[in-house]
Amino acid sequence: MGLIAAIIGLGLVGLCLRTVPTVLMETNLVGGIAGPLTGIPASPPRTAAPAAPTPSMSIDPTTETNPSAEPAKLQAKRKAKSLQKVEVPASGPGTYHAADKSVRPTTAAGSLIRYDVRVEKGLSIDPDKAAILIQGILDDKRSWRSTGHWRFELAPVGGPATLHAYIVTPETTDRLCAPYLTRGEVSCQNGNRVVLNAKRWLLGVDSYGSDLTNYRRYLVNHEFGHALGKHHVDCPGPGRLAPVMMQQTKGLGACRKNPWPQATED
Ligand SMILES: [Zn+2]
Repeated sequence: MGLIAAIIGLGLVGLCLRTVPTVLMETNLVGGIAGPLTGIPASPPRTAAPAAPTPSMSIDPTTETNPSAEPAKLQAKRKAKSLQKVEVPASGPGTYHAADKSVRPTTAAGSLIRYDVRVEKGLSIDPDKAAILIQGILDDKRSWRSTGHWRFELAPVGGPATLHAYIVTPETTDRLCAPYLTRGEVSCQNGNRVVLNAKRWLLGVDSYGSDLTNYRRYLVNHEFGHALGKHHVDCPGPGRLAPVMMQQTKGLGACRKNPWPQATED
């Protein structure tokens, strides 16, 4: 199986999708928990913009003696290292490691939705850690629970879950999302599945830069938002916060990144 080297700056991500129009429609083809589609067109290609250009790989930016420049240099070095280390297999076996944690919501308000989490074998993602991270996002006061209409409970695989989250390789994403076209690049919600593309989970996206924490918040809130029946919306205006149901993976347009649902998205 091929490996997708996660080296920012090569401008490879999304190239193949640029000429393909967005054909994903907000239609409920599958039914199930809420159904609308959620394939997201790919982001534009990454631009070659590493934070700290170094003339030679042998130069260690931390040897810089200017104290005022050091934090930025260190940050840049860390970013570069972390991005270069991550590799996402293009495909996997289609079998999963199950998260077996159970985490109840911390609110009593709203309809309870139980979900479980699977991570495709071959990915360097700990299923329990990922599941707890997802639950932390969904149970955050800024997430959908803020509406008072929903709350989420993480259930162990094999338990009472009615919604199933997957973190899977690009190829398996395409398979689990069909007939929606994710093209190995984006994520989806399809019937009772929330399918998070490991490529996006591990690498994030241009529009969020190195802010993987907030991109994952966006990704989870957006795809689970589809499971609640939420549809895509556009940027409401220049300088405004992007709605979480805007396709922020594709780009932010004139909006500012925002990973949380806003009151208007209730
Ligand atoms: Zn979507």
